[in-house]
Amino acid sequence: MQTTWTRRRMADRADPRPAVRQAQRSRWPQVAQKYWWRLAAGAEVQGPSRAHLTGNSGDRYCAWCRTAGRCTVDTTDHQLDHCPAWTNLREWVQSRTRQTGATAADYGDFILNGRTDTGKFGSGGLGVARGIALRVMCATLTKGRMMGPTYWPPANAAANATKLLAKEARLRHLAATKTGREAVAVFAKDWHGLVRTRRRTLDLLFG
Ligand SMILES: [Zn+2]
Repeated sequence: MQTTWTRRRMADRADPRPAVRQAQRSRWPQVAQKYWWRLAAGAEVQGPSRAHLTGNSGDRYCAWCRTAGRCTVDTTDHQLDHCPAWTNLREWVQSRTRQTGATAADYGDFILNGRTDTGKFGSGGLGVARGIALRVMCATLTKGRMMGPTYWPPANAAANATKLLAKEARLRHLAATKTGREAVAVFAKDWHGLVRTRRRTLDLLFG
């Protein structure tokens, strides 16, 4: 049995509260919020209470790895750092991060704590992309459980994330154009690197 030795904690600094507040203030859909809490609780709490808190009691082993014939204990560390199911989603998040001019050396830290290398929280379009990655992970896990081994590996995770990010960018741009020129300027700044705005049109720079 493979064991994960990394013990990731939600607190990237001494105090985890800023990361919690940031997640609460984000406008992520509920499924992303809930999955974030699940990962965060899983990172902080070990043993029987972890299963109780995270709802992972029925899934002691990672569903993806099990379908590939491996028994890997399902932990926050495993989902964030090691599980091969998320390789293309990890790359997707890192590409989006680079596009905004930020760097997040560590995918897991970024998903859990929301901070880039500079210690700042990824906001704007990058914060939205983080919520989308969480949403895709949660939705893919649910679908994988329903569909069984044929769903391995969740290769479409990154493509789904792109679709959701494009939809979100278009919605927010449309809302900004209805509000006025200043709102469009704020949107363009928030989504810098991910989109290009021209008067009323929007070019997506990710695909
Ligand atoms: Zn796995």
